[in-house]
Amino acid sequence: MADVPAPLALVESFLNSVDVETGLDDLRDVATFRHWLADHDRPAEADEHDLDLARRLRTELRAEAATHHQQPDQAEPRDRGALDALAVRIPLAVRFAPDGAAVPGPTGTGVTGVLGEVLAAVALAAHDGSWRRVKICPADDCRWVYYDASRNSSRRWCSMQVCGNRNKTRSYRQRTAPA
Ligand SMILES: [Zn+2]
Repeated sequence: MADVPAPLALVESFLNSVDVETGLDDLRDVATFRHWLADHDRPAEADEHDLDLARRLRTELRAEAATHHQQPDQAEPRDRGALDALAVRIPLAVRFAPDGAAVPGPTGTGVTGVLGEVLAAVALAAHDGSWRRVKICPADDCRWVYYDASRNSSRRWCSMQVCGNRNKTRSYRQRTAPA
């Protein structure tokens, strides 16, 4: 997706490492996870422990993306204890760039370093408002994570051509079905 800001591209790809439609999961086991890491130019010797952490973080962040359809002023507070408990296991520190920017960055190595990149990108995006634009398609058989680049941040489906239309057709059929 070309409209995703660069730091969020890894986040989006990580969240879409499971494809609900096909059932394919890049985090299915250690071997597939290592493959995913190498594909993203972040080769790391993942073990079962890393895989478990990555899978749980993905689940929690996907649940967060699902809340982004609500308007910020109407967003319901929710229990974020599980996400918070995972986040503290992934070390981050404030890093200074040559241009003076002070931003959070990972201090872990291997998989915790990669997950730290994901988390740091989320933290930065939460600050500039772009994290709220990372949304998950509400179609049950899709659940694809996409970046909503629309001006008023109102895009509801991953793709209007596919999920939007499919859903419109479905609700039209339901409305017109004989009682
Ligand atoms: Zn969709």
